[in-house]
Amino acid sequence: MQRFPMHVDGGDRLPASGEWFETEDPYQGSAWAEVARGGGSDVDAAVTAAHQALTRGPWSTLTHTARGLVLNRVADGIAANIDRLAELEVRDNGKLLAEMRGQVAYLPEWFRYYGGLSDKIEGTVIPMDKPGYFTFTRREPLGVVAIITPWNSPLMLLAWKLAPALAAGCTVVIKPSEFTSASTIELVRVMEAAGLPAGVVNVVTGFGAEVGAPLIEHPLVRKVGFTGSDTTGRHIGAQAARNLKRFTLELGGKSPNIVFGDADLDAAVNGVVSGIFAATGQSCIAGSRLLVQSSVHDEVVERVVAMSRTARMGNPMDAETQVGPVTTRPQYQKVLDYIGVAQAEGATLALGGRPADRPECGNGWFVEPTIFTGVDNGMRIAQEEVFGPVLAVIPFDDEDDAVRIANDSLYGLGAGVWTSDIGRAFRMSERIQAGTVWVNTYRAVSFMAPFGGVKDSGIGRENGISAVDEYLETKTVWMNT
Ligand code: NAD
Repeated sequence: MQRFPMHVDGGDRLPASGEWFETEDPYQGSAWAEVARGGGSDVDAAVTAAHQALTRGPWSTLTHTARGLVLNRVADGIAANIDRLAELEVRDNGKLLAEMRGQVAYLPEWFRYYGGLSDKIEGTVIPMDKPGYFTFTRREPLGVVAIITPWNSPLMLLAWKLAPALAAGCTVVIKPSEFTSASTIELVRVMEAAGLPAGVVNVVTGFGAEVGAPLIEHPLVRKVGFTGSDTTGRHIGAQAARNLKRFTLELGGKSPNIVFGDADLDAAVNGVVSGIFAATGQSCIAGSRLLVQSSVHDEVVERVVAMSRTARMGNPMDAETQVGPVTTRPQYQKVLDYIGVAQAEGATLALGGRPADRPECGNGWFVEPTIFTGVDNGMRIAQEEVFGPVLAVIPFDDEDDAVRIANDSLYGLGAGVWTSDIGRAFRMSERIQAGTVWVNTYRAVSFMAPFGGVKDSGIGRENGISAVDEYLETKTVWMNT
């Protein structure tokens, strides 16, 4: 069986524990590789390597422009390895190969964009209130940054942190999800082959308590960039705060996709179906609550059900497949449990509601695209993040009603609004509590557009120019003239 050692200081690192754990292919429903089970001493070696690269290695002596050029070469390296990286991700995660190729092909843009920013990091000269001083600020890299990622989009969510961190001049230790480590290790190998100096980016694989916790505690780590569940996020934020470290948290969601009666229903139905069933619903921005105006409720539900019913499930490597497996065994069980909860709460099952036993799904962890109607927003199926192919349909009467239901959530990550009324589009985008509102579109993301959550969906923003600030410290220099 293929083995993935950790990656520290430019080379493979075997686990100090001598232990390995299996990583599973969700389509086969069985192990396909082994990953090093890291621990505290591996974390220490990785953080030490990152700190040396920061303070003594070539990274610290590069000009800002040269650093940007390295990031551009990294982008070229990724672009030359799209198929390899995409296939690894499909193997571990079960994402569709076509989608993954697109996602990996987009990754270089993060490194080019932030590479372009790295020599535009400027301090300011302060107009002083006291005579005899020249006072200015320098923007300096924060230091060694820990990046902790989830299993649902390992490479993309990593790039959102890695590219601005490197542009700022930081060095990095990554702890990928224990369910999807392989593509991250391969990405760092590709980055180094393209010219990234050894030790600038390191990967320690393993479990949260064994790798994540000592990484956050490590005295040389200055910041934690985390994407994952709100439960883990609370824990990590508290741990980082106790150690007086900065953190950004990108957490879960229960995003409303709101369809008004005046919407282009063809576009809306497409947006609703792909908004929930793309990535098998395992997306933080999944439009998992369909809020639909009563006047078009029956028509929209009928069309959404009809389109979802025909979704082709099967091998994610197959170009024809539209819905792949659930990524992990525990997540598969969790999705089925939530289907049971919704039924017990009295929601009406309009589609799916069971494991897929189609021959093309083999032994994989497949759940039929599932739609519940008659959902009350107070039900658990409307309040809690399922993170799977399950849509809850909730009717509303008017704009005020839609806003009330949309905002009646602990989360606030994304929201969709489908309407042909421009005034309504503006009003809704102002009134909805969410980090991102999409109008007549859904799920679009870009390196240029800030992304993050309000309320329990997170703290901080990724992407866009200001993401670099998350990895910089301001130093003020007073000179007595
Ligand atoms: P998770 O919180 O279980 O794990 C995320 C990472 O944290 C993993 O690498 C895990 O090993 C690590 N971890 C767990 N316990 C830890 C600890 N005590 N200390 C340090 N690290 C620890 O999340 P998941 O199940 O991998 O991912 C799914 C979640 O991620 C969903 O809630 C989803 O909404 C969220 N997510 C959010 C965004 C966003 O940008 N807002 C994007 C994608 C996914």
